[in-house]
This record gives sequence, structure tokens and C-alpha cells, in this order.
Amino acid sequence: MKTKPLVRYNINAQKRSGYFAQILTSDVLEDICFKATGCREFEVVTESESYNKGRLVTIEYNNVLYYVTLSEDKVDGRNSSVQSVPSALNLFYADDRTKKKLCYYFIQYTGNYFTEYHKFIFRLLKTVGVQFLNLPSNCSAIYPYSNINEIMSARRETQGQNKSNNSSYITKFNNRIQIFGKTFGASKYESTLMALAAAKITKGKVDFFNVAENGLVELPKSSQITLSKFANIEQHSATQTLDKKISESLPETASLRNGSYLYNLLSKLGEKKCCMCQCGIPEIIQGAHIWEVSAISKTSMDFKEKFQHVNNSDNGLWLCQNHHKLFDSNIIMLLKNGQLCVRLDVNHYDEEYIKSITSCKRLDVSFLTERTKDYISKRNSSLCKEDYHRIDD
Ligand SMILES: [Zn+2]
Repeated sequence: MKTKPLVRYNINAQKRSGYFAQILTSDVLEDICFKATGCREFEVVTESESYNKGRLVTIEYNNVLYYVTLSEDKVDGRNSSVQSVPSALNLFYADDRTKKKLCYYFIQYTGNYFTEYHKFIFRLLKTVGVQFLNLPSNCSAIYPYSNINEIMSARRETQGQNKSNNSSYITKFNNRIQIFGKTFGASKYESTLMALAAAKITKGKVDFFNVAENGLVELPKSSQITLSKFANIEQHSATQTLDKKISESLPETASLRNGSYLYNLLSKLGEKKCCMCQCGIPEIIQGAHIWEVSAISKTSMDFKEKFQHVNNSDNGLWLCQNHHKLFDSNIIMLLKNGQLCVRLDVNHYDEEYIKSITSCKRLDVSFLTERTKDYISKRNSSLCKEDYHRIDD
């Protein structure tokens, strides 16, 4: 039986020849080993053949395997400095042994590891259960998130710095948490990590949407396997779901299952907020098609064209469930200038009710792009304007 911890690492990590051999001096190894296991004496086995992903050092001691992922030595981009983390997570979760621990160790580095974005990633890691063996001098502690709302607001705060179509999003619908991420670049790291953290702190279901640019792209197999280890995460491929959706033509449930569409709406409109009443309770806000899925599916366009219209961020609004029903039932009509109208056959009392819950009688014009106006025209072509009057009349 081994009495000393056994430390293993690859001397050539990250395609840099001899890189780990250089930075993992005996002092550094001793510190890592002591902080993980409490032992200062250890044996070392180095490897040089396989490419060691995840900047990993492993330590075997008392039947426990410690996966220690190391920080970068140079922090430049916000994304490049966290790229190795998911590989470490994947290797950790792929290991079926029960006695294992995932740790993080800051080696000497240059640059700023404590931007808001890095703090967000570190807190997610802490939430997932990663143990930080040491902390940089300018950081007193890293706290886990205690609920989904905290993760959502942290995501919101870090989103502004990187508002590109390559971002990931987290929101809620009904009693489920929804995570949307593109399957490449930084988005896939963030979204995978958010899903794991969400799965840890909620008893409910987490829907994970792989938002592929085209049907050929999906999350790396190793990340899919990691997500599948959590019983409350359900993975969805946005493109396949959409395919099914068009053939079934069920617009009411489209928002639940059509990941790409919601991803695009989050990118264009920002977080969920009903545009007719400003309700921001994500659980009851849906993505509402302007030109209806049922109408699109009945046209003679080919699949690709239908797909684009159903998926288009200009073809959608955030609506609460009440307003979504009123809009879908054509009790409320939207004009191209943003004006809302009510159908004339609605009785006086119901009309008063609709007015009372509709605080925005004319929608903000910021989202009314030319394409959106075009979709409004398409929707309204089957309606008769004479059947309506302005909601503020
Ligand atoms: Zn509303």
C-alpha cells in the first residue's frame, strides 16, 4: 500500500514542449500536494507522450484521486484564460470512481485574473464543487452561488462586456431552467459550466440547448457525456427540435422546444420582458412569433426558407402568457408602427381588463426593424383592420 501521494503530470502540457517541467518546480508541486492532501512528501511520475488536456496534475492518495487543474501563467483574453477548465471537468466526470476531488490551483501568473468575468467563472466552478487550493493575493474568497437568480444576474452583469452572437444565456420557463449556448468558442464553455452549476443547486430540471449554426455542429462528445452524468439535465439539439416543430405546427409550445429561436431572441431583445406589460418574470415569458409558425409551415417555401423565418429574431417578441394568448388569438393586433389595437367584438368589461394589463399601448420602436415590420404585415394580411380599434382610444 502506498503511503506517499503519487503525483502525475505531463511535462509537455498544452503543446508547449517542456512547459510543465518548467513551471512545476519541486516547491510548486509540494505546495499543491500539501494543500490537496496535507502531505509534503510525495512521489512523482511524469509522462511525455500523450497530450495532457486540461492543464492537469493528478494526485493519488488514500484511494482518492485529486484532479488539480492549473491556472494559466498569462491572462490575456477572458476566454483563453478559462478554456482549459472544461477539459478538466470532462476528464473528472468521465472517471467513474467515487473517491475523487476536483481542485484548482493558481500558479504564478501575469495579468488580471479577477475581472468580473473571471469571478463569474470561478464562482460557477465553486458551485460545481471545485475546491480552490490557493487564491491570488488580491482575492479573499470565492463563494458558490446559492440559487439560480444569482447566476442569472451575474450572467447579466458580465454579458454587457461581450454582447456578441457568441454568448450563452440562462433563463427560466415554467419550472425549468433553460441554458442556451452555441456549440463552439467561449459560448460552449460558459453554457456547459452554467448547466452544471444550475444542476447542482436546483432540484428541478435543466434544459440545455445546443444552438448549432447548422445541423452538423454539436457540443464536443466529452461535454455531452459530462452533462449526461447529471440526471436533471436534458440536452436538446435546437435544429432537430425545430425540424420536428415545423412538421407538427404547434406554435404554443414552440417557445419551449425551439432553442435556436429563443437564443436569437435573447441576442436581439435581451432578457425576457413582456413588451406589452413589462412583466419580467422569466417563468411566464414566452417567445411569440409574429408571422405564425402554422402559417409559415403552410407556405410552399422549401424547408431551409421556412427554417429561417421560424428562427429569425426579427420574427419575435417577448410576451407574458396572458399577452401571448391575446396576441395569438388575434384579440390584440400589432400595427407596423408599434401601435396595439383591440378587436371590436371584445365586450366593454374585457376591453377594460385588457387595457388595465397592457401598460405599453404602443410598443417601443427600437425592435421594429424593416424585417420585423415585414413580418407584422404578413401576420396582419389575414386580419381585417376594420375589426379593430386602437387600444388607447
Ligand atoms: Zn404581458
